[in-house]
Amino acid sequence: MLGTADGSLAVFFGAAVGFMLASLFAGAARRRRGGRRGRSGHDGGGGFLTPSPGRVSDPRRLQARALLIVAYAVWAAVLTAYGEPVLGPVAALVLLEFALALLRAAAVTGGVVEDTGVADRVGALMTELCRRAGCPCPSMVLRDDAVRAAAVRRVQGQVAIVLSRPFAAAVTDEELTALLAHELVHVLRDDLAAARRRWLASSLAGLALAVAAGVAVRVSILAAAPVLTAAWLVGTMASNVALSPLNRWREERADAEGALLGGDPGARARALAKTQSSSREMRAQLYGRAPWRWLLFPLSWRMPTHPPMARRLARLEARS
Ligand SMILES: [Zn+2]
Repeated sequence: MLGTADGSLAVFFGAAVGFMLASLFAGAARRRRGGRRGRSGHDGGGGFLTPSPGRVSDPRRLQARALLIVAYAVWAAVLTAYGEPVLGPVAALVLLEFALALLRAAAVTGGVVEDTGVADRVGALMTELCRRAGCPCPSMVLRDDAVRAAAVRRVQGQVAIVLSRPFAAAVTDEELTALLAHELVHVLRDDLAAARRRWLASSLAGLALAVAAGVAVRVSILAAAPVLTAAWLVGTMASNVALSPLNRWREERADAEGALLGGDPGARARALAKTQSSSREMRAQLYGRAPWRWLLFPLSWRMPTHPPMARRLARLEARS
């Protein structure tokens, strides 16, 4: 027989699992329909999207999330005096660390921009790559920051390549072609779906840890909400780290097939080296330098989603 607390715990986690499964199935259905088309900016049906603020990470959205998490941290800290002398402060520390990381991310995140000059340049290179690959051009989004040189994301219901405008400005056409070819392989191989499956598995593991915390707390489940949230965050992050090496072979495949598609492995190697130095600078801005960076451990630790850079460069050099 379930008690009131056990019953609300079951309802809460049942709803969370239901939401995650529904979002996964909705994503699969969207992929089958092929997604909606964006505004056309280059041949082949793709185009540059300018999603409304909030559809992709922008500074204000990150700051709002950080403030919400700070409020949750205060709530967790108050629990220290009301029956949770261990889980309360631990949850408060975890939540404060997440809030701090989000605030720092907000300081370096630039949001989506429109830039006709860059759109024309990137559009021409992408059209040529898609002609070679025999595929329709994917949608593109330009960001005004260098958080990542490029990435494949789902934006407005469609798979899009999100490109950093400052990074695009800092590389040659050959290097940009190589970078776009790598991302195009990710799109064609549907690597985003694999990332989504990893996210789902990690979230379920996070949920398992939250259930364990729910069983361990002495206050009511409603009062323990920040403790459960902190447990979910820790479980999700830890299992994401554990699962992220599964992505490495996809990166190696995108390097190899992208080098064939781009036709210039040397340019890919140069683009990768520039990506690495841009990413180092960004991480220094985001997490600060040691020893301050340690305050944000383990968030400041780089996820092992990509193979070691030396190995990627050596493979590309062997091809050139
Ligand atoms: Zn990649």
